[in-house]
Amino acid sequence: MNDCIVLDGKKFASEIRSKIKDLGKQFIEETGFTPGLAVVVVGDHPASKVYVRNKIKQTEEVGFNSIEHKLPTNVSEKDLLSIVDHLNHNKKVNGILVQLPLPEHINSDVILDKIDPSKDVDGFHATNVGKLWSGLNSLVPCTPLGCSLMIKKLYSDLSGKKAVIVGRSNIVGKPMAALLIKMNATVTIVHSRTKNIEEICKSADILIAAVGVPNMVKGTWIKKGCVIIDVGINRIEKDGKNILVGDVDFNEAIKSSSMITPVPGGVGPMTIACLLLNTLNASRAQYNLNEIDLSSVL
Ligand code: NDP
Repeated sequence: MNDCIVLDGKKFASEIRSKIKDLGKQFIEETGFTPGLAVVVVGDHPASKVYVRNKIKQTEEVGFNSIEHKLPTNVSEKDLLSIVDHLNHNKKVNGILVQLPLPEHINSDVILDKIDPSKDVDGFHATNVGKLWSGLNSLVPCTPLGCSLMIKKLYSDLSGKKAVIVGRSNIVGKPMAALLIKMNATVTIVHSRTKNIEEICKSADILIAAVGVPNMVKGTWIKKGCVIIDVGINRIEKDGKNILVGDVDFNEAIKSSSMITPVPGGVGPMTIACLLLNTLNASRAQYNLNEIDLSSVL
């Protein structure tokens, strides 16, 4: 009999949004101010369009203001910088998100660096990255933040546990490592230049897959009782249909893991919920109110 928990990210994210709605209401009553999230979208990237639509819808559902800036693909870097600068100075905007990827003629690093770190709800600004790695309070990238909340459902402290992260991106792998270190895990990151990935994965008590390779992590790579967080979102064709799968072979992994996140319906919904959490926390910090640690109130 296998006791693996399949963590319903949709349900968990909905609980988080409902908590944020309550906390947001309290904040509005306390300050007389409604948190505002500005989303800047350049061009017509189809996946970004769906994602941005969901962000705006969910922002409004929790009672926050949503401000969208839609810009043409050929907008210049200079004009985009000036829009970000304008948002930095707009008191009604507490969070700024520039949807990636940006067109090739625009240097994303330059744009992300322009965002006021106190409004950087994606947590990509070097100031927030530095704070995260220094163990200080900061705005943390939304996807790894969501993963850490999922892990905290089982463990609040990872002392003596070994965590392995597959993937070293700035968006997922690296900030995930910083968060796991903060939870006292012993962390290894593997990537495309690592030898013996399978052996390293077999040693993991917590395994985070953020690679973008469908079903890469096999059932045989997983130690009994391992907690698996599958960040990957991969579209593949199966039996003539387009389906989404993760980076982990779910059907095999479920046999030995103690908890696993499905794809779809696992990490995905948590990302926007954490964006709303960051927007609330950015607003609170701007009013000198303490940061909400959701794991302590859920
Ligand atoms: P990146 O492409 O930026 O990074 C992928 C990482 O995986 C890199 O570090 C790369 O190594 C490593 N990698 C690639 N192939 C292999 C391999 N064969 N063996 C070992 N390592 C490998 O991707 P992201 O981090 O942005 O995203 C990862 C996945 O997560 C994607 O499927 C993406 O769609 C999904 N995602 C999901 C989100 C959500 O909300 N659920 C949010 C963000 C991402 P190297 O650095 O050496 O190239």
